[in-house]
Parts: sequence; C-alpha cells; structure tokens
Amino acid sequence: MVQRTRNAVLDRLPTEHEEQREFVSWFRKTHQGTRIFAIPNGGARNIATASRLKVEGVSRGVPDLYIPAWNVWVEMKRQKGGRVDDAQLDWHCYLTEVGHSVLVCQGFEDAKEQITAWVRKQGESDGTA
Ligand SMILES: [Mg+2]
Repeated sequence: MVQRTRNAVLDRLPTEHEEQREFVSWFRKTHQGTRIFAIPNGGARNIATASRLKVEGVSRGVPDLYIPAWNVWVEMKRQKGGRVDDAQLDWHCYLTEVGHSVLVCQGFEDAKEQITAWVRKQGESDGTA
C-alpha cells in the first residue's frame, strides 16, 4: 500500500529526462553564449554498446551536464525519489577536489535556483554583483 502510494506520487512527477530538458532549454535562453552540454553516460543500452562506450572513456557516475566556462557540473534528479549513488558520489568528490563545482539538483526549478545562486555568488566574490 505504501509502495503503491509512493509510486503514484512519483508517476505524477516529471521524469529526470523531462526535468533536464526543461533546465537545458531555460539555461540556453537565460545564459546565451555560455555553453552547456550533456554527458550521455546513463540510459538503457545493450551490452555491446555499453562495452564500446566504456573503453572509449564513458564513466558511470559522471554528472549529467557540464558548463565548461564555469567548471560547473549538474547532476539532475527527479523532484523526489532520486538518490546519489556511490559512483556519482565518488565523481562528485573528485570533481570538487580538482576545483570544480557540482550541483545536485532535484528537478528543473531546483536547478534553476541553484545555478542562479551560483552565478550570484560568483558575482559577489569577483565584485561584479
Ligand atoms: Mg541524473
């Protein structure tokens, strides 16, 4: 019963794909000239494709999106139910250690708020805000 209620709530929420699509669309309109791209390291694929991508360097746990000009990575999750797994956490620790920022965002609205806060914080620290 509890499981069914939980699934019914999740079923009404946008998928991670939908959240990420909204976020990328918003980002490209709002921050024109600042590039963002997706790292396609998730999703269903057959074993042959998975093996081929792995030897080419695709790594499980790398965040979903990267903004190179800012050294910001975005790990997108659904509004509810998404969790950071061990492989993701390992990458987040590494990226933070080498001086990048990693934002774990629970949906489009959260991502928008976190990016906006990140930009504001940068402006404050470099005196442009
Ligand atoms: Mg994700």
